[in-house]
Amino acid sequence: MVARAARATDLADLDGAVSDCFACPRLVAWREEVARVKRAAFRDQDYWGRPVPGLGPQDARIAVLGLAPAAHGGNRTGRIFTGDRSGDVLFAALHRAGLANQPTSVSADDGLTLRDTRIFAAVRCAPPDNKPTPAERDTCAPWLHREVELVRPTLRVVVALGAFAWAAWWPVLRQVYRRPPPTPRPAFGHGAHWSGESVPALLGCYHVSQQNTFTGRLTPAMLDDVFTRAKDLAGVD
Ligand code: SF4
Repeated sequence: MVARAARATDLADLDGAVSDCFACPRLVAWREEVARVKRAAFRDQDYWGRPVPGLGPQDARIAVLGLAPAAHGGNRTGRIFTGDRSGDVLFAALHRAGLANQPTSVSADDGLTLRDTRIFAAVRCAPPDNKPTPAERDTCAPWLHREVELVRPTLRVVVALGAFAWAAWWPVLRQVYRRPPPTPRPAFGHGAHWSGESVPALLGCYHVSQQNTFTGRLTPAMLDDVFTRAKDLAGVD
């Protein structure tokens, strides 16, 4: 699996390869069970039920790093943050920021395109209770590391959605940029900002989960501030 990730020559190759990964038995069983049992509202749909690749152009200057696909969102539609409430909030914000051509993301063939932005997750399969184990995070890391390598020439800013994604970034510094992570690691927080030499800036943002957006812990205005800052740091108009 590590070797296959490392061999990916471009994002299309990587996206195809990751979609065929079976490295984590617990997550493979879960993603397939969810796809078989389905949620009542989606009973008539064919679930994707496989790892979910990243989305967005290879020359992205901004990356949005999430936790893992949602069971009935990405795991259903095959596209990250697509078909669930988290995605509704995220893509509306990207559209307001001029980084997405439309404010909604409902299916893999709905015409959505991103500008200057690549979205990917630390773990590529939907985990039970949205909680991958540390071993699953580490097993999946080579996919993340290769994806960052492929966008590295243009990548300037990473927006980490939540503490899990924030923590998943530090190994990328060593694996991809050959730089030691800062010690101690900067703490995650909404609006946290870390910059290092010759590596992308890291911005912290509360995760766009319903738990945060329904309670008002994360508002559209807060997301707008994060993406305005990300665009400034990345030099995106
Ligand atoms: S979580 Fe990652 S490493 Fe594990 S099966 Fe899915 S794609 Fe493969």
